[in-house]
Amino acid sequence: MRQFNVLGMPVHIHESYVDWLAKRLQANQGAHVVTLNAEMTMQARQNRELADVIHKADLVVPDGSGIVLYLRSQGESIDRCPGIELSERVVEVAAQKQWRIFLLGGAPDVVVTVAQVWQQKWADIAIAGMHHGYFDDAIEQQICEQIQTTKPELILVGLGVPRQELWIQKHRHLCPNAVWIGVGGSFDIWSGKKTRAPQWLSENNLEWLYRLYQEPWRWRRMLSLPHFVWCVTKESWSKKS
Ligand code: UDP
Repeated sequence: MRQFNVLGMPVHIHESYVDWLAKRLQANQGAHVVTLNAEMTMQARQNRELADVIHKADLVVPDGSGIVLYLRSQGESIDRCPGIELSERVVEVAAQKQWRIFLLGGAPDVVVTVAQVWQQKWADIAIAGMHHGYFDDAIEQQICEQIQTTKPELILVGLGVPRQELWIQKHRHLCPNAVWIGVGGSFDIWSGKKTRAPQWLSENNLEWLYRLYQEPWRWRRMLSLPHFVWCVTKESWSKKS
C-alpha cells in the first residue's frame, strides 16, 4: 500500500482494494474506508473534525477525478477507484462469502429497494439489517443496538459527507472488526432512483457535470471544485518558486 498526500489529505494506492479489505476481515481487523474526492478534500480543509477522521481512516481511496488528475500531475500513474464500484465489488464478495451486511442511509423506500435488488441478484446475500438515514436520537440508539447485536462484517453508511464519516468514527467501536464504508448517495443509484453519469462523461472527468444536471441544487457545494483546482495550482506554483 502506497500513501500520497493531496492538499493535506492522505490517499492510499493498492492494486486490489477488495483483496486488501478481504484480508483485513479475515484477520478480524476491520477498516474504515473513505472515498475521497475534490469536494470532500475542500470540506475537510475547513472542517477539522472531518480532516481528522480522514487521517485516521484505514483506507482512503481516490474516488474523484480531481484527486487522480492531481496525483497524475505529480507523476504518479494511478487510476480512479469510484467508491460506488468498490462498494459493489465488496458486496459481491460478501454475498459469496456469506458476510453479513448492514445498510444505513438513504430514504426509507430507497434502502428497502436496495436490499431487494441485491437479494434478487445474489440469492445467498446475508442482509443483517437496514435502516434509512432520517432518524432521531431514540431510533439511532436502536440502530446502534441492532448493529452491535447482529455484528455484520460489512456496514455501508450513506448519510452524505461529512455526516457519514463522523457517524462511522463515532460508532465504529460497536463493531470494530467490520469494514465500514461511507457510500454517499450510492443507495440512490443502487435502488434505481438516480442514475450514474454515462461512461463517456466519466472518462472525460465530467461526472460532476452530470451530477449538477441531475441535482442542480448542488451548485453551491460544487463551487469547491474550482476552488480545489485553484489550491492545486497555487501549490504547484509555490513548489516551483
Ligand atoms: N441522507 C440520509 N440522511 C440525511 C441526509 C442525507 O440518509 O439526513 C442520504 C440521502 O438520502 C442520500 C445521501 O445521504 O442518499 C447523500 O447523498 P449525496 O449524493 O448528497 O452524498 P455526498 O455527495 O455527500 O457523498
